[in-house]
Amino acid sequence: MDPLEEALRSRFGLDSFRPWQREAIDAVLGSPGRALVVAPTGGGKSLTYQFPAAVLEGTTLVISPLVALMEDQVRSLTARGIEATYLASTLELDERNARESAMLRGAYKLVYAAPERLASESFVRMLSRCKIALVAIDEAHCIAQWGHDFRPDYLRIGSLLERLSPPRVLACTATATPEVRREIIEQLGFANTTFSEVLRGFARPNLHLAAKTVDGPKQARAAVIEALETAIGQPRIPRGGAIVYAATRKTTEQYAELLRKRGYNAAFYHAGLDGEARTRVADRFASRKFDVVVATNAFGMGIDRSDIRTVVHVQPPSSIEAYYQEVGRAGRDGDEAQGLLLCSGADIALRRRLVQMGSDGEAADASLAARAWQLFRDLLRYIDARSCRHDFVLRYFGDERETLGGCGHCDVCQEIAQHAGDDGTSTEGTTLIVRKALSAVARANKRAGMQAVAEMLHGVDSERTRRFGFTGLTTFGLLKEHSLPWTVALLRALLAAGWIDLTTTEHPVPVLTRNGVSVMKGEVEARIVLPLEPRSPAPSSS
Ligand code: ADP
Ligand code: ZN
Repeated sequence: MDPLEEALRSRFGLDSFRPWQREAIDAVLGSPGRALVVAPTGGGKSLTYQFPAAVLEGTTLVISPLVALMEDQVRSLTARGIEATYLASTLELDERNARESAMLRGAYKLVYAAPERLASESFVRMLSRCKIALVAIDEAHCIAQWGHDFRPDYLRIGSLLERLSPPRVLACTATATPEVRREIIEQLGFANTTFSEVLRGFARPNLHLAAKTVDGPKQARAAVIEALETAIGQPRIPRGGAIVYAATRKTTEQYAELLRKRGYNAAFYHAGLDGEARTRVADRFASRKFDVVVATNAFGMGIDRSDIRTVVHVQPPSSIEAYYQEVGRAGRDGDEAQGLLLCSGADIALRRRLVQMGSDGEAADASLAARAWQLFRDLLRYIDARSCRHDFVLRYFGDERETLGGCGHCDVCQEIAQHAGDDGTSTEGTTLIVRKALSAVARANKRAGMQAVAEMLHGVDSERTRRFGFTGLTTFGLLKEHSLPWTVALLRALLAAGWIDLTTTEHPVPVLTRNGVSVMKGEVEARIVLPLEPRSPAPSSS
């Protein structure tokens, strides 16, 4: 038997590693000894440093922001006979000193430290005298100033690593946005060395994803009711629970009222309720006395119910990450569950105002606002997607290894399957149109933005298309039978499908991705549903 599996069994009482855990542990124990692990909460990230800590000679230092969590882990490690302790400013000075002396003697396999300890020069000096086998940084996204959980003390970790130069470093987080990952890599000094990035476990195959543009509250209400009836059935005999997320307190109350009138055991939940009332709603939902909770995003932490059959968003949240976390509360038991995201033009305008207004109601810092708006626009691209939604999310998180090239259980994949059933010609036509559009992007050769490329495809003979030299290209007017707005929507759909990308230059221009090249060459089928003609105007991209 594999010695690591053996050790896993004897030291941790677990049967086997999850494949990505093994990958991370191999990277930490072997070369390059540096790893960034990104996996969802509950995925099992702690094992990726606890296990190496248990088998390595020396002490593993774990930087972790939450004292309660440290206490928990120390307790369960100690119970398994793995010596561990934690250091935080909540401890009496005597106790802390005693633990630090024991640490110096090498008495612990793991020492958890709160990040604020790193501000103490004497603590860092003590660390440099210990035999440190591994430094693990839990909740590593706290280092990212753009992140939602920034902790200034985390910025000290970079210089700590420089000073200690430990043989192994592992960072873990559940935050997978590319921006945050970049910042972690930068701050930890990984950028200048080789390191492994293990990013996995985000796929949720039992979750059916759908998104829909609605034209107002009436359509939204109808869609919510339909979604509830489909997912949990009739109010009297519900199959499991449902969460309906709305953007404002007032909307949650109105929806709860509406659903109660339809016979559901529904309650609302928002930050305007006092703590006791909130606990009561959460408890009753957990114990199945309520079937539906209509909530703002304040409802989240500690939802303890695995048979949630649907999560419906009346309005879009702030980002793909926020959305995926909220919708991810459905189907924790592994049975089929549904996620439906609704969006109207008014919701986009509302978000625009929210983004420009800081949390304190004053105008927000311009760069923060721009950043927040960017995150929301990524979510709009998800809503607009004309290719697999699961693949979209996984690609967004960088979890490409789990993409399926079409999942069969999102609304777009189902639509694609329906079209394919017509007579077979429509998918062929689709592929041809997509290949024409991709060729146009290639021909434009980074000279022009999306609008100008659309004009080339549509065959607009203007001062601009001439200046770019588009009128003389073979791709000029290739899609002239379609309207210009449709052609723009098509290019957006290709962007969402990951076949083209926008450069990060001041004036972003479309370029083909590697997958896009394969589709253009006809090596890969274009699994996409084309925009409808005529199509309502796409959300503004500025
Ligand atoms: P994370 O830190 O990613 O949020 P945890 O490390 O707290 O997740 O692990 C979540 C749960 O998964 C724990 O109860 C843990 O015991 C369990 N777990 C982790 N790895 C394995 C494994 N290889 N086999 C079985 N259970 C595991
Ligand atoms: Zn799909």
